[in-house]
Formats: sequence, C-alpha cells, structure tokens
Amino acid sequence: MKDLETPAMKQYYKAKQEYPDSLIFFRMGDFYESFDEDAKVISKELDITLTNRGKNRNGNKMPLAGIPYHSIDLYLPRLIKKGYKVAICEQLEDPKKAKGIVKRGVTRVITPGTAIDSSIITTSSNNYLMIIVSNFNISNNLNEIIFGISFLDISTGEFLTTQFKDSKPYEKLISEIENMSPSECLIDKNLIENSILYNRINKYNFLITYIDITRNIDTELNKSKEFIKLQFINDYKDIFSILNDKIYSLIACGNALNYIIKTQQKSLLYIKTITYYHSYSTMILDSITLNNLEIFKNLRNNNNTLYNILNKTKTSNGSRILKKWISRPLLNIYEINERLNTVDYLYHDSILIYDINSHLKQIYDIERIISRLVYGIAHARDLLSLKKSLVSIKNIYNVILSHTTKVTLFKNICSKLEKYNLFNDIIELIEKSIEENPPITIREGHIIKNGYNKNVDELRYISSHTLEWMNNYQKKEREKTGIKSLKVGYNKIYGYYIEVTNPNINQVPSHYIRRQTMSNCERYFTEELKKQEEIILSSEEKLNTLEYDLFIDIVNEICKRYSILQDISELMGSLDVLVNFAYISKENNYIKPILSDSDTGNIIIKDGRHPIIEKSIENNFIENDVNINNKNEQLLLITGPNMAGKSTYMRQIAMIIIMCQSGCFVPASYAEICIVDKIFTRIGAHDDLSSGKSTFMVEMLELSNILNNCTKKSLVLLDEVGRGTSTYDGYSISRATIEYLHSKGIRTLFATHYYQLTKLCNIFPKIKNYYVSVKEEKDKLLFLRKITSGYTNNSYGIQVAKMAGVPNIVINRSFELKKLILEKEKEKEKVSIYNNNILELLNEIKNIDIDNMKPINALFKLFEFKNRLFNIEKNYNKK
Ligand code: ADP
Ligand code: MG
Repeated sequence: MKDLETPAMKQYYKAKQEYPDSLIFFRMGDFYESFDEDAKVISKELDITLTNRGKNRNGNKMPLAGIPYHSIDLYLPRLIKKGYKVAICEQLEDPKKAKGIVKRGVTRVITPGTAIDSSIITTSSNNYLMIIVSNFNISNNLNEIIFGISFLDISTGEFLTTQFKDSKPYEKLISEIENMSPSECLIDKNLIENSILYNRINKYNFLITYIDITRNIDTELNKSKEFIKLQFINDYKDIFSILNDKIYSLIACGNALNYIIKTQQKSLLYIKTITYYHSYSTMILDSITLNNLEIFKNLRNNNNTLYNILNKTKTSNGSRILKKWISRPLLNIYEINERLNTVDYLYHDSILIYDINSHLKQIYDIERIISRLVYGIAHARDLLSLKKSLVSIKNIYNVILSHTTKVTLFKNICSKLEKYNLFNDIIELIEKSIEENPPITIREGHIIKNGYNKNVDELRYISSHTLEWMNNYQKKEREKTGIKSLKVGYNKIYGYYIEVTNPNINQVPSHYIRRQTMSNCERYFTEELKKQEEIILSSEEKLNTLEYDLFIDIVNEICKRYSILQDISELMGSLDVLVNFAYISKENNYIKPILSDSDTGNIIIKDGRHPIIEKSIENNFIENDVNINNKNEQLLLITGPNMAGKSTYMRQIAMIIIMCQSGCFVPASYAEICIVDKIFTRIGAHDDLSSGKSTFMVEMLELSNILNNCTKKSLVLLDEVGRGTSTYDGYSISRATIEYLHSKGIRTLFATHYYQLTKLCNIFPKIKNYYVSVKEEKDKLLFLRKITSGYTNNSYGIQVAKMAGVPNIVINRSFELKKLILEKEKEKEKVSIYNNNILELLNEIKNIDIDNMKPINALFKLFEFKNRLFNIEKNYNKK
C-alpha cells in the first residue's frame, strides 16, 4: 500500500508525524489541502466541502478538504478561535524551478496563545500563552506545592514570571489564571495526577497542552537556561541573577521560549526581558473576589463591570494597562500617591486632559505594530500608522512640556523623548519613503514614493510609458498595413497582441505571427512587439522586487529601535490610563482619597457610593458612611432585611479600596484608607454546578480559603455565611468565624440574618452592630438604604415574601408560626433565667458559714433570701 503513496503524501505524513496535535495545512499549488481526520474537522468547522481522493494509509478512501491559499486569512482565525492549532506546511521552493517534487516543510504553527495576526487577537486585552510547572508529583503528594508560572504575549513582547507556594484548592494559581485570562496554557504533565487542580483548570476554555517535564529538575533547569541564553544573548546574566533561586520560574520561562521556537520556527527578537513579579507586592484579589465584585465580568452577563465604568482610555495599550492596574492594585503608598497626584493635577486642568486625549486618540497600537515589524508580517500601512503615532506623541510632548516641573511622569516622558530626538528620524524616513495609500500586499509594488529611489523612478517611467508606446505602435502599424481597425491590446495570459478583424485578415503582412484565433478576429504578435513586452514585463517585475527590498530595508532600519519604541509605548499607555482616571473622576464626581500606612487600620469613607449601581439608578443612590479601625470598630456586624442594601454596601467599600490603590479617585465625599493587602469576599449563594459541588460545600471552601489566608492588613467581607445548612450549624459556624476574625484582628464586614449574633458586641470590644434601616408602612416595606448604628431583630422575611406574591394563606400561617415560635422562645428564655437565679441562690446558701454567724445576721440573711425568692417568682410570672 505504502509504495503506491505519492511523494507528496509522504511529505504530508512526515509533517503530521512531527505535529500530531495540529491540523496540517498542506500547500499544493493554489490550495492548502487537508487530509484524513484533519479534513473532516476542517470541513465541519469551516463548513466547506469534504471530498475523497485516492486512498490513505489504512487503505480507506482519503478524505480531503481544501481552501484557496489566498483565503487563508479568512479561514485560519476561525479555527484558532475555536482552540485548534494549525501547522502551515509550505512549498519551500519555486515549483517552476524545482527538479522533481517540490520541497515542503512546516514554516509556522499558529496556536491561540502564539497568534499575532490582528484578525485573531483582540486589541483591548493581552494574548497570553501561560506555562505552569511545579514540584508536584504523585509520589511526594505534598500539601503545599511550589508553582512556577510564566506569561508570554508575542503580540506585544511582554514576558512575565513568578513563583509561589500554594495549597489545595490552589486559589493563588487560579487567581493568576483568572487575572491574566490566557488563551493557551502549557501544563507540566506531572500535574495531571493532581485531580483537584486538574478539575479546576479543565473548566476553562483555553487550549491546554501537557508538556513533558522530566522528574530530574537539574536536567530541566539546564535545558531551560539554554533557551533563555539563546533568546537574551545580552542580558541573560541579569535574568539568571534575578531568578537565581526561582527554579520553577526559570523552567516555566525556558519552556515558553522552547514552544515559541517550535511554533514560529525562529526566535523572536522583540520579546522583552523577563520580568519577575511578586504577587505580594500588589493587592491580592482572588478569582472569587474578582467575580463577586464584578471587576471584569458581570454576574448577569452584561457590561456593567468596574473595568467598563473606569475605561475611557484612548489607546489599545492604555486599556490593556488599565486592566493590569485594576487586577493588581498597588500596596506601596509612595507609588499610589504618585499616580493619585498625577490624576489630581490633571483633574484640575480640563483643557490639558482634552488636549492630551485629542492626541492620544491618534495613536495606533504601537506595541503590536512593532511586533509585526520585527516578526516580518507588517505591511506598508503599519509604517504609516507608526508615523502618525509618533507625530501624535510629538504633539503630546509639546502639550506637556510646560508642566514637567509639576508632574514626574511628564518629566520622564519628555526627557525620554528628547533622548530619542522625538523620533524625528523615523518620522522622516517613513514620510519620504512610503506612499500615502499603499496596498496591503507588499510584493506587488505601489509602496515606495516617487523621488525616494532613483531606480524605482526609472522603472516606473518605463511602465508608465507603455500606453504611450502602444498608441504610437498602433498608429504606425495602421499606416503601414492600411488596416484602419487594427488594434494593439494586452491580456494576462497571452501578453501583448495585434488584433485584426476577420474581413481584413488578407491584408495582414507576412511577418505577423499568429497568437490566438477568436470568433471574429485573429490576434498576432511581431518581433518588435515581443521585445517591448519583455522590457515592460521585466521592468514591472523588477520594480515590484525593488520596492519590496526597499520596504524591508526601511522596516529593518526601524526595527533597530524596537526596544525604545516599546518603552515609549509603555509610557504613553500609563499616561493614557492616568488621563483617563482624571477624566472619569471628574465626570463621575469622584474625590482624591487619602492613604495611610499607620497601624490604626482606618477605613473611613463618607458618603460612599457603589460605582456601578449608582450609574444604573442615576440620582437615586443613597450614600453611606463607613468607619473601620483596629480600636473599637474592627468587625462590623450588619443586619437588615433582604433587599435592604447590605451586599451593595459591603461591595462598594471593597471597590472604593480597589479604585484607590489602583491610583484612581473614588466615589465618596471623603475617604481615608489604610493600605489593604488582600480583599476576600464571600457573597451570596451560587452553585458551582460544573464542579458538582453543593452550594454549602462551595461556601465552606471559600470560607476556609479566607480564614487560612487573611492577614491583619486584609479586608474580609462575609455575606450571610452558613445559610446552606441547618440553623444551628449555620449559627455556630458564623459565631465561631466571628470570634476567630475578632481575635486575629482582621478588618471584617459581616452581614447576617442570625440576629442573635448581634449580642456578641457585649462580649467582644471591637465588634460593632449596624443595620440597614427600613420603614414598615401598612403592608409595605420602605427601603431607606441607610446604614445606621444598632441592630434589627427582624429580617422582614415574611413581608418580603408577601411583596413577592406568596399566597395569603401561606403568609398568614407564617406570621402565626413565627408568633408561636417567638412566644416559645421567650418562655424558654424566662425558664432559663429563672433556673439561673435559683441556682445562684442555692449556691450562696450552700456556702454560708453558719458556725461563725451571729443569730441576728442569720435571721437577716433568711429574710433576704426569702425576698429574693419572692422577686424571682414575680419576674417569672410577669407577662
Ligand atoms: P441585600 O444584600 O441587603 O439583600 P442588596 O445589596 O442586594 O440587598 O441590594 C438590593 C438592591 O437594592 C440593589 O440591587 C440596588 O438596586 C438597591 N440598592 C442597594 N443599596 C442601595 C443604595 N445605597 N441606594 C440605592 N439603591 C440601593
Ligand atoms: Mg445580599
């Protein structure tokens, strides 16, 4: 069977063997063909015809599906977005010049995490490839394991890594994943055996590939170091010294680079040096909190997220940086204040905001243009976009120059730009070389401006005079032959020809050579025409090649400066975010918060608002204060009926803190915040159906994560803990949790319906009760949404049920039952008070020292006891 295989099919099977997990696009002439199972997948996913040709290795008919090579940009993104990898197997030599079969080989593998094409990736977010390695293996089965992770975005060149310890259920790792939302993940194969982790990671919809990491760490480390050395020829030593003891980080980075070489078939020069980040240098927001607070995703799946409300950035890079800032707020007061002060300065100068924005708007996605330039897939329009962006940056320079003494960021930007001579050389180079309106293709000319290169001008002169020459020639031949209708024309297949209609054929001179017969005419050529044709065609080809070569030279010239261009793009992105903060702060009436690092633990907010909800209900939002400190208001216990606004209140405090530590103003009239290192939330009941866990189990997992990881600097929000189980269990867990958080000195907001808990403030000095007030009006509840000191012992649950339309019979019976229960409870309490008092009395009698007592005193004592007994009975019988 095999011997019948064509040489081309042998090439195909070789490619498939090398890239078994990719779909192979096999170039055959004008088509990319796919075979076998690949063909079935492609025909289904792209909705194109599936045919058969010949036989495959199993002796069955060979399924086949192909797409025209020029439509690849149309079809490829659809496959990548669906999570497939595609290996492009190209013809490696010109088929016309090849002897025997054309050489073919895989030139590039496109995967979701290594895509660079703008048709695949979105501009407002990074496109990360994530690598996860760890010291876990089934035989050591440690409780706490070390992860090394890295993120690489080849569309911007960003390369990050970190290493940390994490224990079940690996909340830290999950929050990194949620934070960065990679589109592809390479995972250490050993981790498959960790079922908790495996299940958690598998529920995401990014493409997962398991990579072979040998259990011999030294081997793995050395291999990784080689890849790093190869990529960062100049600064690998710095990288090794920074990542000195971060073995797993190094391995994660090495594997990222290895994968890039495998998929791109080359190393990418513009990848920025590896940045190590500590998760403890920024605020930690775990995945649950990011979701609960609706930072990037909305629980009801609409656009009302904090990110959307805060995002009016003008550049793509700005929106990507904003995302990073909100998901990792700062902890360092100095850095936060630097951002806040810049925002403050801009806040008070609307004209400055307007001016900077008007230029920021004109800046294209420089980071990605640079990547495309260095990668080698840029076209001439990218150069024009780069030029326009650099001109806008120059304009920004002129706008901010007079403010540099006031704002450090402005000073940094200006001095950098001056150092780079405002990029005048690049602007000029593009200006004088690139046509104003070039095509997207780079091999078909029309790219280089007239006057830039003498040879281009000459070749253009030749082609542009073609028409003139043809007209002259036609005129000359008409005169010579006397055929008035003789025409000189051109078509793509036959080239230049002389056309003579049938009635005049007998007048055709003998040196005309027949080229083509048509129904009403004949076409000829002559030696002279043929010579001219060669000159014209070869000059066009020469022109195209020359323009292409010049274009590549220009690109290479600019690429020499890629790292300073990346620098300036980063600065422009930060500027964009800060101008944006100032703009939205003004628009939404936010104020500058005051930060402190003292150990008072103060979180003082006056007239705080929920940044998302206030938008949806316009002027009807009721503002609320909060006062938290380590002295006497460390744990706030919040009661109040359903729908009163408890969850909203707690969320708004967390959001204000996140905004503040990101460097943005906040929705309040005053805010003083003592740095918060982590925010934990446990809000509302929601089933985690996909993982098959009950609501209560999910709740307890979240609670355990919070209690195990919070510190004295954290803020914990607990909303109705212990609802998914029996009242006694729920109450007990709640109370024990409160006692624990109180004793550990952790700032906490605790909303609950167990109003018995409100008594705890009598026992614990730093617990304070608050309630959200409501007014009962006839049959209705009026929500006042105001947080007030004190507590309520009514959850108004039955009133809410009534408002919801539960039948009256049920409502009335509920009231009746509640009354009975309350009466019984009162009775029980009375009995217990009675018993306690009697016991106390008996105890005293037991301890009387009769031997040493004067009779008169004994008499008095007896009198007192009788009186007390009488009172106890009186109290018990009181209604
Ligand atoms: P709870 O947690 O007490 O059951 P929520 O916080 O979920 O109540 O609030 C219920 C609804 O009440 C919110 O969706 C919002 O529309 C409204 N709400 C809450 N707080 C306020 C407020 N301060 N001002 C105006 N409306 C509010
Ligand atoms: Mg609630």
